[in-house]
Amino acid sequence: MELNKIIKLAEAAETEVAELTSGLVQFNSAHPDGFTDEVVEYIKAYLDKHGIENEIHYDDPKKPNIMARVKGTGSKKVLWVGHIDVVPEGKPENWKYGPYSGEIAEGCVWGRGSSDMKGSCAAAMVSARLLNEMESIPNTVEFWFTCDEEIGGGKGARWLAETGLFKGDICIIGDGNGGGPEAPSIDLGCKGGAGVTLVARGQTAHGSTPFLGDNAITKLINGVPWVEKIDDFELDFPEDLKPAVEGSIEYYKEMMPKVPKMLKAMEHNFYTPSVTCNIINGGVKINVVPDYAEAEFDIRLTPGSHPTKVVDRIKELVKDSGIPGLEIVPSRVHKPEDTAGYYESPSSSFADQFKDIIGKITGKSVNMKILTGGTDGISTSKIAGIPSLGYGTSLTGQAHQPDERVTIENLVLGVKIFTAFPYFYE
Ligand SMILES: [Zn+2]
Repeated sequence: MELNKIIKLAEAAETEVAELTSGLVQFNSAHPDGFTDEVVEYIKAYLDKHGIENEIHYDDPKKPNIMARVKGTGSKKVLWVGHIDVVPEGKPENWKYGPYSGEIAEGCVWGRGSSDMKGSCAAAMVSARLLNEMESIPNTVEFWFTCDEEIGGGKGARWLAETGLFKGDICIIGDGNGGGPEAPSIDLGCKGGAGVTLVARGQTAHGSTPFLGDNAITKLINGVPWVEKIDDFELDFPEDLKPAVEGSIEYYKEMMPKVPKMLKAMEHNFYTPSVTCNIINGGVKINVVPDYAEAEFDIRLTPGSHPTKVVDRIKELVKDSGIPGLEIVPSRVHKPEDTAGYYESPSSSFADQFKDIIGKITGKSVNMKILTGGTDGISTSKIAGIPSLGYGTSLTGQAHQPDERVTIENLVLGVKIFTAFPYFYE
């Protein structure tokens, strides 16, 4: 089949992909529950109706994952992975249309998950149908729809990878912002975490005689800026990621408010860790001097850099503070050889072919970038060992926001890419 024919088939599915996105959005699969059973039932009904082979896999029956398979004539297998859980909607009054209305209006589908990433899932469902209706296709394609991505993949992609259910030659991650038809881009990977907890220990006393104690909260507050100093530590990510790092910085700067201070911070955001103290705990009673307090830091590193080096440097900084009773506890144990996040080589045949097909479909040059947040790609790449690249239909700046929406134009482009790439990959 010619690429042009696939493009026409995708364009003819415009109403279908918009309605499927709307249908998916109308099932509330938001965390903290994050239940995906109703969404999976909806996807299964569509797949069954079109005679598409499918399997449901779960660790928790309220959080199933579903896979659609189209068999190919050759031995290669292409995976597509996307998530069907969403983040909470926040205040309903902040929404122009209801957060679970799935309203189709103004050239968009509106509602929680439309951009992140039920729209992309709807595009993948249509692609499964189009591939299934072709007389024969060269590669076997599996489209996986997972739970729990927004909370680290526990019963979703991570569980599927750990149990060995993800098997394939390459994987497309349908999450994230592929830039739409105007500025298409591929995600080479995403950052990883090197979070730490700063623990402060002191000596308790009665609140009326604080000088008899040693206040752990005071120590903690004075210790926090010392951890934040990690923000100018130079990361040791691999040289071949340099162009993607530069491209990512440009991409994010484009999306940001043009505030000089923020732009400057973004400029070194991939070269040094991002660090933010997001949880603080301590104290038991108003009249008791606390002997314990702790602060948790979210620290993100460019893929390929070494978390142990960062954690070791934080320990040195805290020691340099000279404040007694402070300790750094890493939120995860890292081995010296461990690297943060994941990335695929920008010069692999997979990346070349992916870039090529998106370029042909959009008529634009395709950028490579690295995501600042995590995706299911960490599981498919690092646990299942399958080279993974991302292209998502998300509309710029929409993920996790009120009035989340996705353009129907982006959805149709998603159908084109998710159909054509698995078909032509060799
Ligand atoms: Zn997402």
